Amino acid sequence: MDQYDVAIIGSGPGGYVAAIRCAQLGMKTAIIEKYSTLGGTCLNVGCIPSKAMLDSSHHYEDAIKHFDEHGIEIPGEIKVNLAKMIARKQGVVDQTTKGIEFLMDKNKITVYEGVGSFKDATHVNIKKNDGKTEEIEAKNIIIATGSKPSTLPFIKLDKERIITSTEALELKEVPKHMIVIGGGVIGLELGQVYKRLGAEVTVVEFMDRIIPGMDAALSKELTKVMKKQKVKFALSHKVKSVERKGGQVIVKADDKKGQEVVFEGDYCLVAVGRKPYTDGLNADAAGVKLDDRGKVIVDAHLKTNVDNIYAIGDVIKGAMLAHKAEEEGTLVAEQLAGQKPHIDYNLIPGVVYTWPEVAAVGKTEEELKEAGVEYKVGQFPMRALGRSRASMDTDGFVKILADKKTDEVLGVHMVGARCADLIAEAVTAMEFRASAEDISRMSHAHPTYAEAVKEAALAATDDRALHI
Ligand SMILES: Cc1cc2nc3c(=O)[nH]c(=O)nc-3n(C[C@H](O)[C@H](O)[C@H](O)COP(=O)(O)OP(=O)(O)OC[C@H]3O[C@@H](n4cnc5c(N)ncnc54)[C@H](O)[C@@H]3O)c2cc1C
Repeated sequence: MDQYDVAIIGSGPGGYVAAIRCAQLGMKTAIIEKYSTLGGTCLNVGCIPSKAMLDSSHHYEDAIKHFDEHGIEIPGEIKVNLAKMIARKQGVVDQTTKGIEFLMDKNKITVYEGVGSFKDATHVNIKKNDGKTEEIEAKNIIIATGSKPSTLPFIKLDKERIITSTEALELKEVPKHMIVIGGGVIGLELGQVYKRLGAEVTVVEFMDRIIPGMDAALSKELTKVMKKQKVKFALSHKVKSVERKGGQVIVKADDKKGQEVVFEGDYCLVAVGRKPYTDGLNADAAGVKLDDRGKVIVDAHLKTNVDNIYAIGDVIKGAMLAHKAEEEGTLVAEQLAGQKPHIDYNLIPGVVYTWPEVAAVGKTEEELKEAGVEYKVGQFPMRALGRSRASMDTDGFVKILADKKTDEVLGVHMVGARCADLIAEAVTAMEFRASAEDISRMSHAHPTYAEAVKEAALAATDDRALHI
């Protein structure tokens, strides 16, 4: 039987990063993945393919709507070739997952393909696709089995017309009318993809705003912009049934007055969140405890109730984000090597890759109010930037929340072009506990979208933004 210092179950961004870091630190490492490609949800059916589709559809939208404004004329009709678009996306996925194989090889990590299940706290059985089983032994085991799309109890996903994000990345045609249940990140990103490609899109959301976990100002701005893009929103609507009739899908919901509203479309994307995935893991055999929502319970060191077993990523509490899983993978590896790493969960940024992009880090205004923290706000609109006018990306703003007395930056919230990248400056500043004045006194290249961060910091410091 092969023996390892560490065995990791699941090869998503949590698992494969943990494996690399363990190997870098000199541990004999194995990783077990049930699928034939590595990289988990993120690389195969999540972050990477969704961004590839967002990029392609963005190019198409630019070509049909905005090239003309830039003085670019294309003779003849511009058409979508969805099959080609999806094939390009798959090419990106294949290249990226192959990259993980290379990294496993480079770091001398043994990869097992098959379903890993606990035999006991130090042994894992690997059931391979050909039915054969192999057993390995490991001093430490990291559970990194991730998550799967969840649904509502009364919705029967047929994966053809009533679909999850996984199928939405593989459609054979552009829907005529896609009904998206859930106004969270995944629903909005994929809804925008198909809106750009020509579908009518209606987002039905239970809460009274989209991206409910983020600062309310971001929800308001994104709703406004997406409405301009002709996405329809039915907020405060509680979906009660989803039915397929041939090529049609009928979604019934109650609005906030309790009146029934019926939506008819040809596809329904169910994007109501994700659930931890522990099927087949046989956690019981190792004595690992799960909570009532199926998440693996861990302590502050990401250790389960069993001494040598850890868990990371989507399968435990916290934000379901690839970069959060990666940090956790690194943390566990470094702890196993005797180091004392730390993650500040308050500084894990959240991003929505719609266009304009939405990004945030730290506390929202609602959270500061609830905690009774005295704060000041500095806000700067993208439309006042030369860079935004040059690219015609004038929607959005940067908002900085700083402590009223100390000026320490407590939260940064932004909507606009390239905000997914701009948020890194805010994370860096907050990691170093910068004040708004610190940011305002740093030189920001001109003309860039990043100037909005400096201007918002100036506005927060002393209400002295320069360009508005
Ligand atoms: C459409 C979509 C878009 C997304 N976009 C973003 C984004 O832009 N940015 C972002 O940060 N996050 C995004 N996410 C979320 C991100 O994909 C997840 O947070 C991330 O993948 C979690 O990583 P993980 O390592 O915990 O698990 P996963 O990536 O889910 O990987 C778990 C792996 O474990 C394997 N596995 C499970 N059980 C077993 C077993 N018993 N034996 C062997 N293998 C097993 C699974 O097959 C899987 O490969 C997106 C998700 C979706 C669905």
